[in-house]
Amino acid sequence: MTGNYSEIAADLTSANHANRNKRIGQFFFFGVAIDILLILTELAAGLSPLDDIIRHPWLYGYIILITVAAFSIFGAMIGSREDELEKLALRDPLTGLFNTRYLWARMDEEWATGKREGHDSSLILFDLDFFKKINDNYGHPAGDELLKHIGKILQHAARKGDTVARIGGEEFVFFLPHTSVTAAAVIAERIRDTISKTTMVTANRQQIKITVSAGVAGTNKYNSSIPKMLYGKADKALYRAKKQGRNCVLISDVPSKKVHRPLETRV
Ligand code: GH3
Ligand code: MG
Ligand code: MG
Repeated sequence: MTGNYSEIAADLTSANHANRNKRIGQFFFFGVAIDILLILTELAAGLSPLDDIIRHPWLYGYIILITVAAFSIFGAMIGSREDELEKLALRDPLTGLFNTRYLWARMDEEWATGKREGHDSSLILFDLDFFKKINDNYGHPAGDELLKHIGKILQHAARKGDTVARIGGEEFVFFLPHTSVTAAAVIAERIRDTISKTTMVTANRQQIKITVSAGVAGTNKYNSSIPKMLYGKADKALYRAKKQGRNCVLISDVPSKKVHRPLETRV
């Protein structure tokens, strides 16, 4: 597993097969080493494998080829599995969205580029309203279904380059590189509106409606020195959104201004 955050992010964005390629290389050399070892063993036993090789070049050629190919295929299988496991380690198992680990990696990476190139990025923090009541009223499995459903809505709303992550029970983050806080607020509002108008039908044919509150913050020329400060600003805006009645989007550093007038929360 790669340790460095920006390496993790780069690995994922570029459909990485690093482990597979590394293992193919390693196992190829294992195969060659085994063949050399066999020849050396024959020499040590007083046999003359070189005469044999000259006499039966095709036979020895096939043996070497098959050994090396078998080892390389085995290496590819192990490496691909390792690649898969690495990717799974960066995903939330319930929704399939990215997890916190990946989010910070991606933000660290963008922070460095953004500071250098001077573009702003934004973060939206979503929190489902009264989600506990959903579990209480419909059961935990229905709550899980709803989380997956919300995950799909968010994923669908994401543009290329955006990162959507589930960072807690019913909290989701949208990280939007190259996006001003005003543009991010419009996106947040659109998502809030979509969720408020959605009715999810569970496997047990229960109809569930939910709303979401959101806090939006921008890097503002990267005045916040670290990504966690951007998250902190969005979290404060989200807190205000909850206080102001939920089902609304509030922007950090914009006092009490809602992007939208909330509908009644429907749970
Ligand atoms: P608020 O509007 O203030 O955010 O209220 P809330 O009920 O959404 O927030 P609260 O923090 O009180 O409750 C969150 C609930 O989310 C409690 C917990 O049982 C539930 N939860 C957390 N993780 C999961 C999960 O993976 N699946 C399900 N079904 N529920 C979860
Ligand atoms: Mg919460
Ligand atoms: Mg909540």
